Amino acid sequence: MPLRAAGGERPGWHPHLWHPFTQVATADPPLRVVRASGALLELDDGRQLIDAISSWWVTLHGHGEATIAAAIAHQARTLEQVGFSDFRHPAAEQLSERLAAASGLERLFFSDNGSTAVEVALKIAWQWWRNRGEPRRQLIAFEGAYHGDTFGAMAVGERSLFSAPFEPLLFAVARAPWPATWWGDDGVEAREAAALEHLEQLLDTPTAAVILEPLLQGAGGMALVREGFLRRVEALVRASGALLIADEVMTGFGRSGHLFACQRAGIRPDLMALSKGLTGGFLPMGVTLAREAIYEGFIGTAPGLTLFHGHSFTANPLGCAAALASLELLESRPQRHQGFEARHRPHLEALAAHPRVRRPRLLGSVAAFELATDAPGYLNPLGLRLQRLALERGVFLRPLGQVVYLLPPLCLDDDQLARCYAVIGEALDRL
Ligand SMILES: *Cc1c(COP(=O)(O)O)cnc(C)c1O
Repeated sequence: MPLRAAGGERPGWHPHLWHPFTQVATADPPLRVVRASGALLELDDGRQLIDAISSWWVTLHGHGEATIAAAIAHQARTLEQVGFSDFRHPAAEQLSERLAAASGLERLFFSDNGSTAVEVALKIAWQWWRNRGEPRRQLIAFEGAYHGDTFGAMAVGERSLFSAPFEPLLFAVARAPWPATWWGDDGVEAREAAALEHLEQLLDTPTAAVILEPLLQGAGGMALVREGFLRRVEALVRASGALLIADEVMTGFGRSGHLFACQRAGIRPDLMALSKGLTGGFLPMGVTLAREAIYEGFIGTAPGLTLFHGHSFTANPLGCAAALASLELLESRPQRHQGFEARHRPHLEALAAHPRVRRPRLLGSVAAFELATDAPGYLNPLGLRLQRLALERGVFLRPLGQVVYLLPPLCLDDDQLARCYAVIGEALDRL
């Protein structure tokens, strides 16, 4: 039943819900979803939409994936929740073993989402130096970065419209350039060299940690760097002794074509933040992985050495069960994520010839380009116009300003993929 105007006379808006990143005065009211299956969302009026951005990058395999649903149901009947300071349980044990084997990082700390996974990584890095009796006070992040919306995560993220109201509350972070690249970019070497020089200078100051989104910055605009750049960043970080934090909240679990983007780039971080695809997109859960030597730095009889951080739902068994089932799917049919880049490529190549398309780039299942515009930025209206046109044709996109991207669930079939590109092509003609 369509909603009546209520709570301030706003037709189409629910009287009690408050939506994220949404300005009610100007946004279109949210669509009402009643179920979803595979790559499709079903609306209450019966319309079906291709979920071309995996419901904000979390739906990894597809909506309603049966084995994950079954694993959650089974776990719910067995053990739904227990405090994780005094207890451990088989689902958490198994997940820690599998993620350690998959990532090469031995210790796993649980939290509830991507922002908290980043917060925990920052707190661990900061306290690790303090526990050693040699506190380091500088953190380094990259321009354009997005690491989440809690205070610490906001502080290391690029300062923006989003963080502006809280600016005085955010701790200081040193920032290095992010030399993003795209197809046909001939200036990347010079930008990389300048970025590395800048980073090297920053690292002259004792640094606790350097945090980055390996290979692809997500919310900052699907900004891709080359693998070789990250390897040189790692070498500089190692030479300085600082810890390297990889925020794989978006790139993890096959999105880059490899299980982790760090593996594709050939770098080995000290700490890694994971969420989004972790549970296949079924349940909110975050994980921070750490090298064993970091864990060791928190062990001792002095109470102050302890990592005093935790959440009520730490290591929630349902989340662990979902994550185990999702990993099983990823590892048992790797061609699904490994082969996605090759499926995108011919479509993106064709689209790249369109006069409105700038800077095409591709990583694993993520394809992106920019709309030609004189005013790039999150508030650029072109992306929103394209979003509305695509929606009319049954494809859900959510451009970041002028940056348009596809980040579909791995189950998306060839016809659905072709449809996404066809709809974007038509929308570009009509913009
Ligand atoms: C989405 C995202 C986060 C924040 O995760 P939430 O679960 O939304 O808190 C952090 N880092 C990156 C790279 C992300 O894409």
